[in-house]
Amino acid sequence: MLDKTMTDWQSQADQLKIEGRAFINGRYADALSGQTRPTNNPGNGRKLADVALCGIEDADLAVEGARAAFESGDWSRMAPMDRKMVLVRWAELIEKHADELALLETLDVGKPISDTTNVDVPATVRTIRWSGEAIDKVYDEIPPTPADTLALIQRLPLGVVAAIVPWNFPLSTTAWKLAPSLATGNSVILKPASNTPLSALFIAGLASEAGLPDGVLQVLPGPGGSLGRHLALHMDIDGLTFTGSTPVGKMLMEYSGQSNLKRTFLELGGKSPNIVFADSNLEKAAGMAAAAVFYNGGQTCTAGTRLIVEEKIQDKFLEMVSECAKSWMPGNPLDPATAMGPMIDAGQCKTVADYVDIGRGEGAEIIFGGSQVMQDSGGYYHEPSIFSGVDNAMRIAQEEIFGPVLSVLSFKTAEEAIRIANDSIYGLAGAVWSNNINTAHKVAEAVRVGTMGINNYFGGDITVPFGGFKQSGNGRDKSIHAFHDYTELKTTWIELM
Ligand code: NAP
Repeated sequence: MLDKTMTDWQSQADQLKIEGRAFINGRYADALSGQTRPTNNPGNGRKLADVALCGIEDADLAVEGARAAFESGDWSRMAPMDRKMVLVRWAELIEKHADELALLETLDVGKPISDTTNVDVPATVRTIRWSGEAIDKVYDEIPPTPADTLALIQRLPLGVVAAIVPWNFPLSTTAWKLAPSLATGNSVILKPASNTPLSALFIAGLASEAGLPDGVLQVLPGPGGSLGRHLALHMDIDGLTFTGSTPVGKMLMEYSGQSNLKRTFLELGGKSPNIVFADSNLEKAAGMAAAAVFYNGGQTCTAGTRLIVEEKIQDKFLEMVSECAKSWMPGNPLDPATAMGPMIDAGQCKTVADYVDIGRGEGAEIIFGGSQVMQDSGGYYHEPSIFSGVDNAMRIAQEEIFGPVLSVLSFKTAEEAIRIANDSIYGLAGAVWSNNINTAHKVAEAVRVGTMGINNYFGGDITVPFGGFKQSGNGRDKSIHAFHDYTELKTTWIELM
């Protein structure tokens, strides 16, 4: 697949048939209102497809179908080993369509084709297959009660779950939500981000082909502020799983409280610290410091946007990181050599440019990049950009920019590095680089984040949980722990005669 050239991908793109209808009760269907909304290619700013604009009436229809599917027991009470077979078949079908799906994701999101082929699609396949494979190996519990009683502690599906996801990793985030929620027997209604609905619509049809009963998975594209809000307030939805920004996450908690206290799990924003000690492998640390913030154009919740460097190596290390930044200059996402594509839309590109101005105004110094580029393409490209002389109180050190902007800070002692790292409303991820295991472990333990790397960034796979401390959220995606978010604990107490 990677031996394809940009021309090959472009001609495949020209032939691509794109499904923009919603997926409701086992079929692709227009929105009941007949309304659509265009989705654009951020690589060139041109319209890619018209997509169903679902509203409240579509949501109600989907909830009715999801509830009927759940109550029928066809999926919710299916033997876990049979559910496993369906999910594994679904993963295989996605794998079979890997090229087409990777291309679709690149066109809709602007992700480099080398990322969608090597990361997003394989990760999606792995997540669905792993959850399917795991679900018939999880046992319930029998507690140590007195001899004349028997108690069962079971994990039962929540019922109908709504999943609302963002635009930065549409496919893999969707898989992180769907795989465990479906594996545990729920019926699920997914609302993709308005900017990036296509890959979720594509894989929904494959789920049906794999044998998922009608109504168990539905995909409704539409606006968060109306459709998403309606789902979050719905009295017949039992669970809500969300990935997105912290302000919207807070609203969802309120909607849950205002409606039926649906179980609400949030994966939110970040401003992750990447701490580099002088005794680390500086070459490796510099390469990863650049990748940590510029990968996916910085539109990554775990992006290492605060580089916290031991003062005595700061100048030398910044030169090394700046050198590495050169390999992240943006390019056409269909070119297999491109490492960084465009921002998702014109608004996000402007936000990044505004933060560059804000940083300059706060007194920090741009030492690399700082401008929008490739305007002739019609797309939304911004250079990788590095600020030095940043104080942690500045907005560019506190606020999530969600673009390729690195803020560099310095420290003298491990205690100071920990204090700076923890001085944030967020607690999603981070890393520490040191060849002294005592220092590295002490710092890793003290930094209050859900995932911490030692001498790596972005480490982890489907076997480990992922989620945030503090205002980065309260849920956990991935691993067996994700099953807990989609199930209720039920006790049955039996008196034996
Ligand atoms: P967002 O604005 O919060 O939107 C996320 C989703 O919520 C979209 O589907 C959006 O719909 C919907 N939405 C918006 N307002 C809503 C409302 N009032 N009620 C219900 N749903 C609503 O986030 P984004 O800009 O798409 O994504 C970027 C954010 O996601 C960043 O903060 C990033 O850190 C975070 N993120 C976190 C993780 C993690 O695992 N912790 C992973 C990836 C991204 P529309 O698209 O129609 O607006």
